[in-house]
Formats: sequence, structure tokens, C-alpha cells
Amino acid sequence: MTTAPTDTIAAIASAPGAAGVGVVRVSGPAAPAIAQALLGRAPQPRRAYLAAFRDGVGELIDRGLLLHFPAPASYTGEHVLELQGHGSAVLLDALLRRVCELGARLARPGEFTERAFLNGKLDLTQAEAVADLIAARSQAGARAALQSMEGVFSRKVGALLQALIALRVHIEAAIDFPEEEIDFLADPAITARLENLRAELAELLREAQRGVRLNDGLKVAIVGRPNAGKSSLLNALAGSERAIVTAIPGTTRDVLRETLSLDGIALELADTAGLRETQDEVEREGVRRAHGQLARADVALLVSDAGHAAADLALLDALPAGAERVVLVNKIDLAHAAAHAETRDGNRWLWVSAKTGEGLDALRDHLKQLAGAGSGEGAFSARRRHVLALESVRDHLDRTAAILTGSRAGELAAEELRQAQHALGEITGDYSSDDLLGAIFSSFCIGK
Ligand code: GDP
Repeated sequence: MTTAPTDTIAAIASAPGAAGVGVVRVSGPAAPAIAQALLGRAPQPRRAYLAAFRDGVGELIDRGLLLHFPAPASYTGEHVLELQGHGSAVLLDALLRRVCELGARLARPGEFTERAFLNGKLDLTQAEAVADLIAARSQAGARAALQSMEGVFSRKVGALLQALIALRVHIEAAIDFPEEEIDFLADPAITARLENLRAELAELLREAQRGVRLNDGLKVAIVGRPNAGKSSLLNALAGSERAIVTAIPGTTRDVLRETLSLDGIALELADTAGLRETQDEVEREGVRRAHGQLARADVALLVSDAGHAAADLALLDALPAGAERVVLVNKIDLAHAAAHAETRDGNRWLWVSAKTGEGLDALRDHLKQLAGAGSGEGAFSARRRHVLALESVRDHLDRTAAILTGSRAGELAAEELRQAQHALGEITGDYSSDDLLGAIFSSFCIGK
């Protein structure tokens, strides 16, 4: 793994804002010397000094606060210096230049948090949560990111890792006694521990999937025949005339997106072109995009109407297996039907009218529930790469179970567990490539 760097970095850590305060942050071995040069003496740790920040020829740049956090009790784990000046871009630039003359270099995006990770202050999941917190689009998302930053997700991964290692040690011990291996691997205690591990993993995977939705918002693709009422539904939910509604089939030629907040939960709704075979070039492109949109969706909302519900069910088969399916029987005002809900073949069916708004509250409630609303105090944020890693752990555990009930080849079971452990370690960064770290930290903003 990459080792902690030895140079000193600096950046403007808070953009000049309405509050009128800007911060230049410095981290690395040169921070104490830079502090001394700016203050004229060595600062006490964690004390605020009013300092005159001067340039190389002694001209006053700004007057502000200087704070020194000696290593390792700092955000990055290195010597850190914070200079708070007036929130002017010009002054902050001059201060940053001065700090660089004194031995720092400009920080790359996310480099402070990357150093915190490399110095063991945060694990990778917590570092990602810092970025997710800054970028949070909803209150629920921010709350969840805070939980991850506090280590809620990491601790669950850690507990699973310990259980996995214990089981692996157990099985590896059995391999050392080949004459008893078969009996040993058939031990119900081993199977029970593996089953426990699989159950806990399944629960963590569910929580992580919810964490991704809390973080990114719930991605909802609206699908259905042309004229079923998809655009009307999007408009009704978004409360605007964003999509063009006409009575001529095939008008929604492109994918329209609308992000809305339902009680602090972000929903990203995409109205897709009607899924139908067509000769029209433009419309065909729309249909192609609709399929692309669907592949990424958490929820597929199939819009149908009372007259077509049965025929439209064929469209359900075309939806990706991963997405949650909701069937909307629209235009109940025309059919003189009442708004209600049913579960059929595991899919939620809701009777609504996009025109009158009947039944839409039930739809909103259902979407909120799918997005993870009311998921309680401990709900944490997660990213897609965490879900993929947990799915890989699940697959290795499934194979371990098959080996233990089948061939009982201890070596193979141990190898599956080793790979499961590796996949789990990728989440918190115990195992991580430079490419992965680069991809994660480069998406941060500068100064974080
Ligand atoms: P899309 O092609 O699926 O996007 O369908 P639109 O939203 O463009 O709607 C097609 C037509 O059905 C328009 O004339 C809408 O006004 C009408 N429509 C949509 N929803 C309802 C509804 O709930 N009740 C009634 N009566 N008409 C609706």
C-alpha cells in the first residue's frame, strides 16, 4: 500500500463565503516552521493567535488567526496549520502563495483526507463519507454520511471480518490434519458459523444498498407504453410542467430527469420514452436511452392503465432483475375506479390518477420507504463499490457453503474464505490499489 508522504501541502480550505472568513490549511513537516515564520515565534499547540501575515518583503497581506495542531493530534495526523483570514479570494491567494514560498506546495483535490487515510486517522469508508457529507443532496443523505464518517459502517465490516478470519483459521487448522479433515469439515459447529456469517453478510448488504440510495438518492425510471401517462406522472410528482404532455403517442422522445426531495429524501425520476418498437430514428434513440436508464434504476415504475394492465405486464419481463418493480394502474378517473394498493406476485400495484392526483400520496409513501426513509438512527451511507465488494463476499461464502456440503475439500473452502476476506478488506481500504485511491480522492474538492 502507498506510504504516507513526507512533503508539505497547502490549500484554501474554505471558499470565500458570506461569513467573510477564509481558511488556508497547511499539512506536513514544514508546518511548524511556516507557523514560526508567520507568527515570529513558535506557537503553542491548539491556541489561537492573532497574527499579521506578511509576504516575503514584509508587506502586510492580512491580519487573522493562526492555529497549530502538532502531529499526530490533527485531521491528517501530520503537523497542521490553519490560517484564518478575511474571506477575500485575493488575500487568500496571496496568503497561499506566501505559505508555498515558505516550503509548502499546492495540495491536490482530497489530499488532506488522503493523508488522514494514509496516516491511519480514517479508513477508506470514512474518507469517502467525508466527500459524501460535503456533497449530500438531502438531510437523510447527510445524516447517513455522518454515520459512516463516524465509523458505523466500518465497524460492521470489521466485525464481519473478525468472524470470517476466525472461521478461516478453523478450516485451515483442519487442513493440517488431513486424516481428520473430512470429519472436521462436516462438524455442525463449522456449518453453523458459516450460516451465521452468511446471514450477517446478507443483512449488511441490505443496509449498504439502502446506504447507496440514501447517498445518491433513489433512481426511479418511469416506463410504459406511449400515452400511458408517464409524463403526466412526472409532472404531478415534480409539481411542474417539465415534461411535454400531449395526446399523441410517442412525444417523450428523450429521457427527462427530475430530482425532487420527498421529506428530506432525494428522488431522481427519469421519464423514459415509451418502450415500443418503432421505425422513427429519433424515437428509436429514445427507446435505446430508456433501456440504458433502466439498467441503472433502483425502481422501475411501470405506468399502465385499467384497460391495458394485463397487456403491459409483458413489459415487466423486460425490466432488469435488480430493480424494484412498481405497477401503476393510471387514469382511474376515467375507469371510475378507487385509489388502492395491492401486492401481486411480489410487485406493488397502485391505482392512481396522474390527472386528479388520487393515489399519488400512497405512491410517494411507497417511494420514500424504498429510498430508506424511517430507517432509523443507525442508517449509514455507502457507495456502489461497497455493494459490489459485499456481493463478491456473498458469492465466495455461497461457494464455501457448497464446498462444505459437497466435496469437503478444505483447501478450496479456505481459498474461498481468503478471497472473501480480501473483498471485505477492500471496503475499508485494508487492501487497496493506488488506482482505487486515486479515483476516490480525485473526486474530492481542493482543500479537503
Ligand atoms: P406518456 O406518453 O406516457 O408520457 O403519456 P402522457 O403523460 O403524455 O399522457 C397521455 C395522455 O393521457 C394525455 O392526454 C394526458 O392528459 C392523459 N392522461 C395522463 N394521465 C391521466 C389520468 O390519470 N387521467 C386522465 N383522464 N388522463 C390522463
